[in-house]
Amino acid sequence: MPLFDTHAHLSSSQLESQLDEVLQNAAEQNLQGITSIGTNLASSKACLELAKTHSQIYAAVGVHPNDCHQATDADWAEIQTLAQHERVVAIGETGLDRYWDTVPIELQRTWFAKHIELSFETKKPLVIHMRDCDADILAMLNEHQRDGQIIGILHSFAGQWSTAQRALELGMYISFAGMVTFKKSHELREIAAKIPDDRILIETDSPYLSPHPHRSTRPNQPSLVRHTADCLADVRGTTANEFDELSTANAMRVFGIA
Ligand SMILES: [Zn+2]
Repeated sequence: MPLFDTHAHLSSSQLESQLDEVLQNAAEQNLQGITSIGTNLASSKACLELAKTHSQIYAAVGVHPNDCHQATDADWAEIQTLAQHERVVAIGETGLDRYWDTVPIELQRTWFAKHIELSFETKKPLVIHMRDCDADILAMLNEHQRDGQIIGILHSFAGQWSTAQRALELGMYISFAGMVTFKKSHELREIAAKIPDDRILIETDSPYLSPHPHRSTRPNQPSLVRHTADCLADVRGTTANEFDELSTANAMRVFGIA
């Protein structure tokens, strides 16, 4: 059955330098779509170029919380324009990060709020990065929701179940990356087992962290999303085919792909 990698950084040098092979491997695993995620103006533009020239690639445009101290108002104006393009299916990646702590949290919040505004304006979902800051993310979502809704994805989820629950109430999707396949990730698998069928997504977050049993494989790449799908089918007590089908349908729905 087809698969959809909802979060890959195809414009990163590790993947773009071998893109033909990466896309060939993805096709062999029956990947129907890959959303390539921008982290600043340059990579957002590069992702859109890839999406314009490859029918299976879609783009997300935005400024990563760890990059926002280097972005200008002019960059944001261009991202707002890019966001209107039909091949751009999401806004991000945005969010908050207290792990690296390289950018003041107030500045991260300001940029996150801009992305939320753009998401409502374009009716395209947010791609949200959340690292060591469940409470901060929830506060932002609660403050900025409209009519009890935020359209978006908590990407590479590694937070608490209560955070996932609140995001689900707001209508959001929860996406799991290769970390869920790691031996020690019991708690994360328990959370993944409880996400409703119509709200779970899978991703690689490539070129970073490859899934088990390819942890030493570098770079990670979209074809390896197969392992995350199989792991989640297993913990959710469903067949691989059923899980592939529902997670792909969820990806198409959240990104508004017909
Ligand atoms: Zn990412």
